[in-house]
This record gives sequence, structure tokens and C-alpha cells, in this order.
Amino acid sequence: MSSKVLENFLKEHLEDLKGKGLYNVIDPLESANGPMIKIAGKELINLSSNNYLGLATDQRLIDAAIEATKKYGAGSGAVRTINGTLDIHVKLEEKLAEFKHTEAAIVYQSGFNCNMGAISAVMDKDDAILSDELNHASIIDGCRLSKAKIIRYKHSDMEDLRNKAKEAKESGLYKKIMVITDGVFSMDGDIAKLPEIVEIAEEFDLITYVDDAHGSGVLGNGAGTVKHFGLSDKIDFQIGTLSKAIGVVGGYVAGKKDLIDWLKVRSRPFLFSTSLPPAAVAACIEAIDILLNSTELQDRLWDNGNYLKRGLKALGFDIGESQTPITPCIIGDEIKTQEFSKRLYEEGVYAKAIVFPTVPRGTGRVRNMPTAAHTKEMLDRALSIYEKVGKELGVI
Ligand SMILES: *Cc1c(COP(=O)(O)O)cnc(C)c1O
Repeated sequence: MSSKVLENFLKEHLEDLKGKGLYNVIDPLESANGPMIKIAGKELINLSSNNYLGLATDQRLIDAAIEATKKYGAGSGAVRTINGTLDIHVKLEEKLAEFKHTEAAIVYQSGFNCNMGAISAVMDKDDAILSDELNHASIIDGCRLSKAKIIRYKHSDMEDLRNKAKEAKESGLYKKIMVITDGVFSMDGDIAKLPEIVEIAEEFDLITYVDDAHGSGVLGNGAGTVKHFGLSDKIDFQIGTLSKAIGVVGGYVAGKKDLIDWLKVRSRPFLFSTSLPPAAVAACIEAIDILLNSTELQDRLWDNGNYLKRGLKALGFDIGESQTPITPCIIGDEIKTQEFSKRLYEEGVYAKAIVFPTVPRGTGRVRNMPTAAHTKEMLDRALSIYEKVGKELGVI
């Protein structure tokens, strides 16, 4: 017999969400998550994936995954610390350290897991964490798990950060203080002000933690936001994901050897959750090799991003202040934003509406993620659909 308490709880809350139009229905893809996707038999131009470089469908990665599966099998068989560390896990970590210009790196099963493990391996209830108010959910949860005091500062507001860092330091209440930020903020495409953050960190003796999920593979010749600013030796924790630009799945921390050694004995997802499967590891190695040897894919990504931005701007859309290929198209009103995205879908463009509470009220937007794999023809077609729907709904 199932629990009545649970049944009532679920019924009430699901109905509430559905009534408010906040219940998210998921559309399964009937194709790979490439530049074109198929949903319910319909071909769509895909402007919603994080597959920035098109590597998720790159033949070289697919071949590497198949070869590794043949050699090592479908699964890795254990957690890293028992006997689930394959030689290719070690090789991937060496590659990542090279890629990030750090002494060492540690790989996790996802970027989310990485934030769960890494923050609480170092921070505890006697410490404080200064956290940008727009940080990713996994950073917020990772901070909570650590039991450190969480002090939020206004988004990329360096005066607020400085004041709060000073106050925390001078209070004498905390043994360690960390500042933690996304490298690239995924809703607006803006870049964290890392040079100022490093300056403040040096002044108040802060540990620095940058989660560069959306910057790796995109900025700094691929190495990410930290490299983009030339700060590779000034940031203690460089977090990345292998699930976005790298096109596979996984997460990592890159940093000094002692830090990585500590994480290998103290971070719980590394100790208590089975390691990445061989296919994923081998595909990631292949991807990093591609990025170490050429900037062709990044160049194409930026070229496509700039092309889409220019086109939308010329049509009269508000595309915000993005500094990266992430291209929000700000509509404003929540209902109109949803309608806009729905009409794009009907016309053949898959671009998600992002509204309150994910972004502030009245700043609803359709977010576009162009990739290196899009052709100019696809982008032109998307732009002409944007023009049609924009005029129809009175946005332009
Ligand atoms: C997407 C994202 C993650 C999660 O990465 P996964 O590898 O998908 O788990 C973590 N941090 C930030 C900032 C992200 O944008």
C-alpha cells in the first residue's frame, strides 16, 4: 500500500504547478542533439543545447567511445578509490591539467557532482562563502552541503563583494573565507569580473573558486575564462564540465597538486559513486586533444554567435549584454515570452523560453545557443523565422 500522505502531497503540488502553467513538459528528441533535431516527427533548428562546439556528434569522439567500450567494457565496475580507476581516467586528468594550465586535475561524474564534492571537502561550519547571487544551482547546493555561512553578493557587483569580504574578514568569525562564482553566467552570457575578484581575494585572503561550465571550450582559446584573463595561477579551484562544450558528460576540478590530492581522499562523489564509463572517458580525451591542437571549432562558434547576434539586432530585437555566444532575445512579459517560443517551435526553431523565477520578473527571454555545427543557412532560416514571429507578436 502506498502512503496517503505522499499521494496527497504530490497531487496537491502537481495540480498547483499545472494550474500556474509552471509544470515543465519535457520533449524527448528522436535524433542526436546536433544543430538540427527531431521532436514528434518535426525537424527543428536547434538553438537550445550546450553542445557549443558540436562535439557531442563528432565522429572522432564517437569512434573513441566505441574503441574504449570494446577494450574496457560498458561500465567501469567500481568507485574510483576501490578499483574503478582505469588508466584512461588518469590520462584524462593529465590532459585536463594540461588544458587548464594547472598542476593537476580530478574528474567527477558530472559538473553538478563536482560542486557537491569539492566545496564541502574544504569548507565547513567554521567558514564563510561569498557567493554571486546568480550562481548555478549546483554551486548553491554545494555551498549548503558544506554548512559554511553563505553570504550572497549582488551579481558581479565588485563594491558589494569588497564590502562583504571586508566585513567577513574583520568580524574574525571565520577560519576560511571563499569567493565563488560562475565564469560565464548562462542566462545573460556575461563574464565574471575575475581580475577584480582576484584583487579582492588577495586583499582579504580569500580562497577563489570559479565554475567555468559555460566558459570552457568557449573562451581563452578553449581553456576558459580564467585563461582568458591570464589568471591560471591565481584561481585556487577551476571547475569545468565535460557535458557542455566538451560534448560528453562529467566534471572536473583543476588546481594545485595538493588540492587535487586532498579532493581524492575527501570528496564524497569521488569516493562513493561509480566512476565515469570508459566510452565517456575516451570521448573526453579525444575532445580535449582536438581543443589542444586547434581553435577551429571555437572560431566557428564565435563566428556563428556573432552572426546570429548581428542578425537579431538588425531586426530590432533586444539581445541584452552578452559577452559570449549565448544570445538571449529579451521579450519581457512572461506570457508573451512563452508564446514567442511556442511560435518559433511551430515555425521550425527550438529555442527555450526562460522566465521568472529563473530570471528576474519582466525580463523573460528566449535564449539562443548557437554552436560551431550550425551552418549559415540554418542561422539565416532561424533569423527569418524570428523576423516573422517578432512582427506577428509585435516585438519588433
Ligand atoms: C551546467 C552547469 C553545471 C552542471 O554541469 P553538468 O556536467 O551538466 O552536471 C555546473 N555548474 C554550472 C555553472 C553549470 O552551468
